[in-house]
Amino acid sequence: MDSQLPAIYRLGIVGAGQIARMTQQAALQLGITPRLLAESIDDSAALAAPDARFTHPDAIASFAEVCEVITFDHERIDIGLLQALENDGMQIRPGTKTLRAAFDKLHQRRILSMKGFQVPAFAEAKGPDDVIDFAKQYSYPVVIKGTKAGTQSKSQVWVVSSQEEALKVLSEQSQQELMVEQHMDILTELTVILARRPGGNSRTYPIAEVTNKDGVCQQINVPADIGPHIAAEARGLAKELADYLGCVGVLSVELFLTADGLVVNELAARPSNAGHFTIEACATSQFENHVRAILDYPLGPTELNFAAATTLNVLGTADCDPAMHLSDALAIEGAHVHLYGKMPKPGRKLGHVTAVGNSVDHTSELACQAEAALLGRRYQKGSSS
Ligand code: ADP
Repeated sequence: MDSQLPAIYRLGIVGAGQIARMTQQAALQLGITPRLLAESIDDSAALAAPDARFTHPDAIASFAEVCEVITFDHERIDIGLLQALENDGMQIRPGTKTLRAAFDKLHQRRILSMKGFQVPAFAEAKGPDDVIDFAKQYSYPVVIKGTKAGTQSKSQVWVVSSQEEALKVLSEQSQQELMVEQHMDILTELTVILARRPGGNSRTYPIAEVTNKDGVCQQINVPADIGPHIAAEARGLAKELADYLGCVGVLSVELFLTADGLVVNELAARPSNAGHFTIEACATSQFENHVRAILDYPLGPTELNFAAATTLNVLGTADCDPAMHLSDALAIEGAHVHLYGKMPKPGRKLGHVTAVGNSVDHTSELACQAEAALLGRRYQKGSSS
């Protein structure tokens, strides 16, 4: 019975965090109930999916048997296994070439630089000599990174200013594969969200300007404060990348704007935090366009419906549960609150707020007010959270 359902009813999502939860919401709106492969009953999306499977992520192969198309909420996946499934005809979205590039930062740097995309100068860091030699060439500070994206909850990026600091990181991180790269003078960090169908038809969203704190994405403003030429170049670059990788679904392309132009920093092979603004600010959210793209349906419009939007992440603190302050946050008109149903923990991403309005100054103010309300804080104009 089950196997006779049309493919659109057999969409599987591996992982059940907030990305899966918002993808699930978008799919439900289209009459599609995705299946979930969750790790725990407390996972954000699993809370809203009574028939989620609670198995270890290694169980992808058996999960795939009951799906026609599978897509991903996170990066903790064995690419070799996915490659085997793809070779057997399974529709893996966005595709293993894209997933490998997003999951393995060293591989990503290698293939993109070979293809002529601008990336920071980089080298594999197998031991101290690799970093010392690299720093001789590019001088300190240099950046040491874990090569596997999304495998740890904390940022795996260390800016080191001396050989002593570098050796300390190398000894503390000896359990993981590392790379070293040139420290870029970044004018602005930008993200381009793009959705692409199997035949290559794609749409990009307005460019988002991203502010990070301690290596974690914190505030997203749209439109980015860049000229139309840079914006067009960034969108073109994202499209070229997605075409090269044969990506199907949403690709999030993180760029550094430097004095010498745009440099590719990172790829997320799924809807990403920097694209949450699309839920309220655009005609079609990144989640809906992801579902449309992976099932090969026409993509929806991606333009902004408002002059500006700001998204702020709501990160857990030691003494506060944002759900307890929902009423205060909902009183702020123009700010849209999303809570992911997670147990509060310090530093944990518990939700986000997006404000839409007439200017980034205004939306930033509204989003800060809503975030402060959720965290039980008094908001003072001009204070950063
Ligand atoms: P993550 O997987 O933690 O998001 P990223 O590679 O995106 O790791 O790095 C996180 C942040 O660290 C970036 O957004 C940027 O602010 C900073 N960063 C990363 N690489 C560099 C670099 N080569 N030069 C300068 N800053 C960097």
